[in-house]
Amino acid sequence: MKESDIIRSLFGTVPPPEDDCYFLAPNRLVTTDSLSEGTHFLHKWSSPAVLAGKLVEVNVSDITASGGIPKECFLNLGLSPTSRKKEWVMAFSKALRSSLHQYGMKLAGGDTFSSPTTQLALTVVGTVKKPWLRSGGKPGDYLYITGDLGQSLLGYHCLKKNWKEGHYKAAIQRHLLPKSRQSLQKPLTKYPIHACMDVTDGLIQDAERLAIASKGKLKIQIESLPLHPLAKKVLGMDACLGSGEELELLFLSPKILPPEIQSIPVTMIGRLETGKPGVQFIREGKNYLPNNRGFLHFAEEE
Ligand SMILES: [Mg+2]
Repeated sequence: MKESDIIRSLFGTVPPPEDDCYFLAPNRLVTTDSLSEGTHFLHKWSSPAVLAGKLVEVNVSDITASGGIPKECFLNLGLSPTSRKKEWVMAFSKALRSSLHQYGMKLAGGDTFSSPTTQLALTVVGTVKKPWLRSGGKPGDYLYITGDLGQSLLGYHCLKKNWKEGHYKAAIQRHLLPKSRQSLQKPLTKYPIHACMDVTDGLIQDAERLAIASKGKLKIQIESLPLHPLAKKVLGMDACLGSGEELELLFLSPKILPPEIQSIPVTMIGRLETGKPGVQFIREGKNYLPNNRGFLHFAEEE
């Protein structure tokens, strides 16, 4: 089954929530994310410290994308014969504590169990003053993206092909341990943000979700996209448009923002217009159809 059909069957007749977080109360939000051995990581590529860091970052990224600050978390740990070993547990725990400390978060509970493969799941609760929903975009809003796109997928290719040259190190690091944009949460509250999400399945699919939630047509200028130069050179442009787990913020604002906030590039890449909800890529003034859609959670979707 397709991921969207599975989710729909779980929710029945109620439409599934579309935001990165669920709002428990006006100022409290919650999210959860998992890392599963074989699906999201391999022990030969990811150390216990890298896994602890990534588990925290992907969840903090969802809290950030909803305009919140992470506070408490719950950890569910399925440990395999490999990850049950003392050295693994000690290294994971140390890195987890350090990563939580960095965000001022508290481990509030969880569950541990034995499993044939390593299964990591974290649930993060946070606070929010003014939530950023995906549905708040208005016609005329400018579309922005933080940082750049393509490195995460490049890192994955390098690992698969065993490319270890120095100039690939940053991409490998970005794939194994992406970083949330939590440091932008506070500075961005100075600007009107109508809608926001983080890039986890690639720009093509994620921008489409934002457009559908905000009920408008997102026109994206290919020439404006901040693609990572090495990723573009090695993988090509279309692959970069599908690069997932970038954890960059994709958002809509009616205002012209500075090109950099706290040394992080903030690039205007398009505009929301009235029209059939969806994304239209434009290159050299003409419609452009990328030849790949990006990360799919279940192979049957292809
Ligand atoms: Mg997300």
